Amino acid sequence: MDFSLPKEIEDIRKKARDFAVKEFTQELTLTCDATETYPDDIRKKAYNAGFIDVGNPWGMLVSMEEFCRVDPGVGMSALVPGFGSEVIMLYGSDYQKKKYLEPVLKGEKISGFAVTEPIAGSDVAGISTKLYKKDGKWILNGGKMFITNGTIANHFYVLARSAEPDSPEKRHHGLSMAIVESEMKGFSSTKITGKLGMRATSTAELKFDNIEIPQENIIGEEGKGFYYVMSFFNISRIYVAAQALGTAEGALDRLKAYLAALKSRGSPMADYESAQFLLSETATEIEAARMLMYMAADKLFKFEPDPVITSMAKYYSASVAAKATRSVMLFMGLDGIATDMERFYRDSKITEIWEGTSEIEKLVISRMLMKK
Ligand SMILES: Cc1cc2nc3c(=O)[nH]c(=O)nc-3n(C[C@H](O)[C@H](O)[C@H](O)COP(=O)(O)OP(=O)(O)OC[C@H]3O[C@@H](n4cnc5c(N)ncnc54)[C@H](O)[C@@H]3O)c2cc1C
Repeated sequence: MDFSLPKEIEDIRKKARDFAVKEFTQELTLTCDATETYPDDIRKKAYNAGFIDVGNPWGMLVSMEEFCRVDPGVGMSALVPGFGSEVIMLYGSDYQKKKYLEPVLKGEKISGFAVTEPIAGSDVAGISTKLYKKDGKWILNGGKMFITNGTIANHFYVLARSAEPDSPEKRHHGLSMAIVESEMKGFSSTKITGKLGMRATSTAELKFDNIEIPQENIIGEEGKGFYYVMSFFNISRIYVAAQALGTAEGALDRLKAYLAALKSRGSPMADYESAQFLLSETATEIEAARMLMYMAADKLFKFEPDPVITSMAKYYSASVAAKATRSVMLFMGLDGIATDMERFYRDSKITEIWEGTSEIEKLVISRMLMKK
C-alpha cells in the first residue's frame, strides 16, 4: 500500500506553494479581504503558470491545498474561475463545450454555477426559478443567491424548474440546467458585501427577468438537472475538502511559527503541555483529513466515486479546519486576533457551508450507510 502521491503531482504541489508564497503578499491578501476585491491579476498569473487545469484534477487538488494554506480567500479566487465546468465536461453538447467550456479552459472567460436561492439552499429540489416554453422559446424567470463569481462570470450553469413534479416525493424531478450569459437581456447581478470570510471572492445575487434561452443552451436532458447537480457535488466536495485541509495546514504553520518565536524569546509558554497537545492534535487531525480526502479523490479520479467517502472527507476536513483555526487563534491571544490568523478563522467557516453544509454531509453519510 502506497500512501504517497506520484512525483509529478508532488512537483506541482511544490510549484503551487512557491507561487502562493511569492504572489499572495501580505499587502495583497489584506487589501482583498478589507476591500472585498477579487484578485484578477492573480487569477491570470495562476492560469498562465498552469495551475487552473480541470483536466489535471490531482494537480488542481494539491494546488488548492497549497494556495489555501497561504491564503484561503485569494487562493480560492485564483482557482475557481471555471466553477461548474465539470457539468459541461460530463453532460454538455459539443456546441456547449466549444462555445462555453473552451474559452474558460483557455483562461479567457469565467463561469459560475447557480443553484442556491433565497429560500432553497440545502433543499436543492425546493428551488422556484422557472424555465418554461413560450411560443417555442425557453424563458427563464427567478433568481439565485450567494453565487460565486457572480459579478465577474461571463456565463452561469443555472438550475431551474422546467416541469411540475408528479408528486411532492418527486420534487427532484422536472429540474433542468441551462447556460445563461451575463450579457443576455434580462440578466442582472448585485454584489453581496459584508461576508464573514472569503471576502476576496466575488459573491452575488442573480436576477433573471424573462431571459430568452436558446434550445442549444439546455444542458443534457431536460428534467435531469437535479442529478447533474448531485454528480457535480461529488466532485466539488472533494475540492472543498482540499480547501479545508489547506486552511487547517495554514493554521498549523502559524502555530509552529508562533511557538518558535515564543521559544526564541525565552517564553515558557512554548513548553506548556497545552501548547504541545494543540500542536500534536492539530497535526494528527490534518493527516487524518488528508487520508480521507485523498481516498475520496482517488476513487473519483478513477471514475469510481464513493459519495459516502466524499461526504466524510468534506465534513471531516471542514471540521478540522474550523477547529484548528479557532484553537490556534485563541492560543495566540492578541497575536491571533491581530494577524492573518483571524482571517484564516473567518475563511474556514465557509468549508462547513458551501457545496453542502456539514449537517447535509452527515445526512448523506447516514442515509447511504443505512441503504448499504
Ligand atoms: C460565500 C458563499 C458562496 C456561495 N457560492 C455558491 C455558488 O457559487 N453557487 C450556489 O449555488 N450556491 C452557493 N452558495 C450557497 C451555499 O451552497 C448555501 O449557503 C448552502 O448550500 C446552504 O444553504 P442555505 O444557506 O440556504 O442554508 P439552509 O439550507 O437554509 O440551512 C440552514 C441551516 O439548516 C441546516 N439544515 C438544512 N437542512 C437540514 C436538514 N435536512 N437536516 C438538518 N439540518 C439542516 C443547515 O445545515 C444549516 O445549518 C454560496 C454560499 C456562500 C456563503
